[in-house]
Amino acid sequence: MLDNIRIVLVQTFHPGNIGQAARAMKTMGLTQLTLVSPRCFPDDEATRLAAGADDVVASARVVDGLAEAVSDCVQVVGASARLRSLPLPHYDEPDLMADEVVDNADQGPVALVFGRERFGLTNDEIRHCTHQVSIPANPDYGVLNLSQAVQVLAYEVHRTWRQRQRLTGASPGRGPLPTQQQLTHFHAHLQRVMEDAGFLNQPHARTSDHLHALFARAQPSRKELSLLRGLLSALERHIDAPLDGE
Ligand code: SAH
Repeated sequence: MLDNIRIVLVQTFHPGNIGQAARAMKTMGLTQLTLVSPRCFPDDEATRLAAGADDVVASARVVDGLAEAVSDCVQVVGASARLRSLPLPHYDEPDLMADEVVDNADQGPVALVFGRERFGLTNDEIRHCTHQVSIPANPDYGVLNLSQAVQVLAYEVHRTWRQRQRLTGASPGRGPLPTQQQLTHFHAHLQRVMEDAGFLNQPHARTSDHLHALFARAQPSRKELSLLRGLLSALERHIDAPLDGE
């Protein structure tokens, strides 16, 4: 999904800003960099300031115009410190932008477009955008350095992406999710143990439904589910052969 989020820098003046933007991107898991007519590229300063993100700089695509940079995109968001009079949908808050960008990146490439250090994006370039976003800042001094603007928006995208991963339980640390069949077996096992233990003594309490909902929210991984199955089996043995005195 993050592979579908592209950072586009328009006519960057200082090559060092390209390197710093690449670094900002890579820290947030973004790697797709497109440069529209950079003044000076490739350049040692860009590579030097990229630090460990020199691979992002090396694989950057260079094009002549913004139209070419975004032609395959399903959404194009122009970042701008100043509100333009163009009637484009405008995100006042980067997290609102990130919500939609992360959704749309499931359908195809999405571009976040950043303007020149000196005068930002032209009106003509903004016409190639479907949306605009501003980073709320000090009203008396609200223009960020180019790479810092990239950092803020990349962070928001990454944050939203992480939240979605948590919700879908697909983060790499948790391991694969169980199949519906494995879940059905687990719930049948749980039901059996609850019945054998005499736990389901209030038929109207909808205990099984509540537990279903609980496990649906928790989204246990396969490994966690087999741990629970092990626990149920141990309890089952205990129910069959209660210890002396119980
Ligand atoms: N002097 C330019 C700003 C250049 S800063 C101007 O007044 O437009 C370079 C780029 O960083 C901008 O074109 C924009 O893409 C991004 N940027 C800087 N500050 C921003 C902010 N507060 N919100 C959104 N984007 C910002």
